[in-house]
Amino acid sequence: MSLEFIPTRVFYEPGALDYPLGKTLVEGFQNMGISVSHTTSHNRITGIPGNTATAAYREAKRTLVIGVRRSEKFQSCKPSAHYQLPLVTSCPGMCEYCYLATTLGKKPYIRIYVNQEEILERASKLIQERIPEITTFEGAATSDPVPVERYTGALKRAIEFFGHQPNGRFRFVTKYTDIESLLDVKHEGHTRFRFSLNCSEVVKKYEHGTPSPEERIIASGKVLKAEYPLGFIIAPIFRFQGWQDAYGRLMERTAEELAKRALSGWSPEQLTLEFISHRFTAKAKANILEIFPNSSLPMKEEERKFKYGQFGYGKYIYQAEEMKEMKEFFQEQAKAYFHSAKVEYFI
Ligand code: SF4
Repeated sequence: MSLEFIPTRVFYEPGALDYPLGKTLVEGFQNMGISVSHTTSHNRITGIPGNTATAAYREAKRTLVIGVRRSEKFQSCKPSAHYQLPLVTSCPGMCEYCYLATTLGKKPYIRIYVNQEEILERASKLIQERIPEITTFEGAATSDPVPVERYTGALKRAIEFFGHQPNGRFRFVTKYTDIESLLDVKHEGHTRFRFSLNCSEVVKKYEHGTPSPEERIIASGKVLKAEYPLGFIIAPIFRFQGWQDAYGRLMERTAEELAKRALSGWSPEQLTLEFISHRFTAKAKANILEIFPNSSLPMKEEERKFKYGQFGYGKYIYQAEEMKEMKEFFQEQAKAYFHSAKVEYFI
């Protein structure tokens, strides 16, 4: 199955036509024979079909909205970065557990913003305000920006921009592998390129419309060879029959590919690892079951520990003993395969 994202329908804000990228995109999609209509706001899209929540969700994931990001304010993005860099919202993937299904509502259509220069200018101001401190921006807080990169070139532009910023750093994460256009960008080591990985048992079951772990690992090797600071997020981690073997194989295969691709002088010290165990909120569970009524995601509240969250709603995480076992397991794996890598956290 090709994972190349070609939208079924496109909407654009008339203001997007004031930007060369907006014009090129609208004309390009019209020339491709795709239905293109205008909309008054990228935040209010009507006209996405679907009689059921499942159908509406699927159609939304094939809908692209070309907009202008007007808000002056950047959301904070603690603890991994100071600010979110708003380049894209949502993504064409259909991971059953995706938190965007909760935050973006029933129709998480994909939004891209054509005023990239203005967005980067705002980033530049925020960097200036914090000098001499380093200011870090996260490019994937509300999306996976890679599937639409072929249309937007937004990551390429942002990476280049941060390459010129002595006090600015950029990071993003992706499950996608269409990254060739980013390999020769002058990043100057200021962008951390992270891949979200999971074992094939989990990817096949829950991460619909995303590349296989093997494809992601091969792509990460290319990114390493392009001398980007590299990182992996292993998430969400599930316990199932044979989970240690499955995750162990994933770590082993990743280490093998990196060893093959690393240039001389590279050391795992430059690698970051993040581990996130599976968790869910009551709201997320209700949303997921509406969109994926037959989901086999493990979401039995009685099997989990309830933990109050910082935003007033609680989440269901694995039991303390299970968490301890998982944490120890991944710490050992990290030591065995990436001995000096920086383990940022296990949650
Ligand atoms: S790839 Fe990421 S952003 Fe896209 S659906 Fe999956 S979890 Fe969500």
